[in-house]
Amino acid sequence: MMKVLNFINGEWKESSSKQFAPVINPATGDAIGEVTVSIEADVGAAVKAAKAAQKKWALEPAPKRAEVLYKVGYLLKERKEQLARMLTMEMGKVIEEARGEVQEGIDMAFYMAGEGRRLFGDTTPSELKDKFAMSVRAPVGVVGIITPWNFPIAIATWKSFPAIVAGNAVVWKPALETPFMAQELAKIFEEAGLPKGVFNVVNGDGPTTGNALVEHPDVRVISFTGSNEVGRKIAEKCGRSLKKVSLEMGGKNAVIVMDDADLSLAVEGILWSAFGTSGQRCTACSRIIAHESIKKELENRLLEAMRTLTIGNGLDENVKVGPVINEKALQKIDRYVQIGKEEGAKLLTGGYILQEGEYNKGYYYAPTLFTDVMPNMRIAREEIFGPVASIIPVKSLEEAIEVNNSVDYGLSSSIFTRDVNKVFTAMRDLDTGIVYVNAGTTGAEIHLPFGGTKGTGNGHRDSGVAALDVFTEWKSIYIDFSGKLQRAQIDIDE
Ligand code: NAD
Repeated sequence: MMKVLNFINGEWKESSSKQFAPVINPATGDAIGEVTVSIEADVGAAVKAAKAAQKKWALEPAPKRAEVLYKVGYLLKERKEQLARMLTMEMGKVIEEARGEVQEGIDMAFYMAGEGRRLFGDTTPSELKDKFAMSVRAPVGVVGIITPWNFPIAIATWKSFPAIVAGNAVVWKPALETPFMAQELAKIFEEAGLPKGVFNVVNGDGPTTGNALVEHPDVRVISFTGSNEVGRKIAEKCGRSLKKVSLEMGGKNAVIVMDDADLSLAVEGILWSAFGTSGQRCTACSRIIAHESIKKELENRLLEAMRTLTIGNGLDENVKVGPVINEKALQKIDRYVQIGKEEGAKLLTGGYILQEGEYNKGYYYAPTLFTDVMPNMRIAREEIFGPVASIIPVKSLEEAIEVNNSVDYGLSSSIFTRDVNKVFTAMRDLDTGIVYVNAGTTGAEIHLPFGGTKGTGNGHRDSGVAALDVFTEWKSIYIDFSGKLQRAQIDIDE
C-alpha cells in the first residue's frame, strides 16, 4: 500500500489535517494506497516555499533551467513502463494508452527544455533615433496548477514544464483520485536536481485544497483543467482578485462522416476516439454526425467493430476498454443513457453497467451506441464522460457543420471525406480549437496549441509555444542611447 504525502520545499510531509483518503484501483475496486488530504495551512506552506524559491530560480539562465527538464525527460523515459503500470492501476486506462500518456510527458520535457534556448521575444525598430526597443518574456511568479484524474501525469507536464522553464515556481494540486503520478513526478524533479521549493505538490480535494490555492494572494496565475462547472467557479474567484487564469474544460466532440468517406477508416477512428479511455477524454468523440446516405452502413459496421472491444483490467494487454473512474461516474453515465432513451433516441447496443464475474468489483460500463439522435437532445449536448456515442443523421456538409457548432463546447472535431473542397470548408467553418481530417477526435501532439473555443476554455492554450503565454508576462523595454530626452508620441516640428 502506497502512502502518498505532500511535497513541499523539497520535503515529503503529511498534511496538518492528519487525514488520509483511500486510493482505489477502478479495475478491481481494491484500495491500493492512501493519500494525505491537505487543508489551507498546507497550501500556505507550499506557496510560501514556492515564492521564496522562485526569486532565485528566475535568476538562473533559462538554458540552465532547461537542463533540469532534460534530466526530467530522461528519467521519465527510463521509468516509462513502471509509471505506465502505476497509472493504469490508479486511473484504469489500458496500459497501451498509459504508455502513450507517459510518452506525452517525455515529449513535453524535451520540447520545453528546448524553449530554454528560445523563449523568444521581439526586437523591433523604435520610432525615435538612437533608441532600441524589445519585448521579453518575464516569469509570472508562483503558478497554481489544478488537474483532473483522467490524465494524471500528462496534463501536469503540459503545465509545469513551460512554467518552470520560464522561471516560475509551481504548486500543484492533483486530483485526489490519482495521487501516484503526482508523487512520481515530484520524485523525478527531486532527482533531476530542481532546487527545493520550485515544484511543490499539495494533495487534497477541490473545495478545500484547490480553493485555497485559487484564493491565495501570492499565487499569480491559476492553470486549471477539469469540468466546466468547476472552471466557472474558479474563473469567478480569479476575476474578483484580477488573477490570471487559464481554463481547459470539457468537450462534446463530433466525428462527421460524409457520404464519400472511407467507412473502414471512419469506423476505426470512431472506435478509438469514442471508446478509448472508456470515453473519459476531454477530446472523446461522443457525437457521430453521419450523412443519411451512409448512416445505416455505418451503424452496421460500428456494431460489428464494437463486438471486438475486449473490456477488463487495463493491465491485460488484450483489453481495449478499461473501467471508468468510480461508482459515481458509472451512475452518471447510466443516468444519461436513461435520459437518452426517454428523449426517444434509439439504443443500438450497450446501455448497462457490467456486473457479471470480475466486472462486479470494478467500475465497468458497456460501450454504448445510440442512433437517430436529434441535435437538441441532452445526450447530444452535455458531456457524459463515458463510453457512450450518439449518431446524429444529417443531409449535407452545411448541416453537419451547423450541428457540430451548435453545442456549448468547442474542443475537438473531425471530418471523414475524400473531397478536398469539403475538407477545406470544414477546416474553415468548424468552430473548435482542434480539427482533424480523416482521423478521430483524439491524438493531439504536444508542440501544437491544445484547447478549445466557447465553453471549453477562456482563450488560453496548453501545449505548444502558446503555453508560454499563460506562464509569462510580456515586458517591453526601451533603451535610449541618444544622450538626450526624446519624447515619443509627441508632434514636434523640426
Ligand atoms: P473536476 O472539475 O471535478 O476536477 C478537476 C480538478 O479541480 C480536481 O483536481 C478537483 O479536485 C479540483 N476542484 C474541484 N472543485 C474545486 C474548487 N471549487 N476549487 C478549486 N479546485 C477544485 O474534473 P474531473 O472530474 O477531475 O475531470 C473531468 C473533467 O475534466 C471533464 O469535464 C473533462 O472534459 C475535463 N478535461 C479537460 C481537458 C482539457 O484539456 N480541455 C483535459 C482533460 C479533462
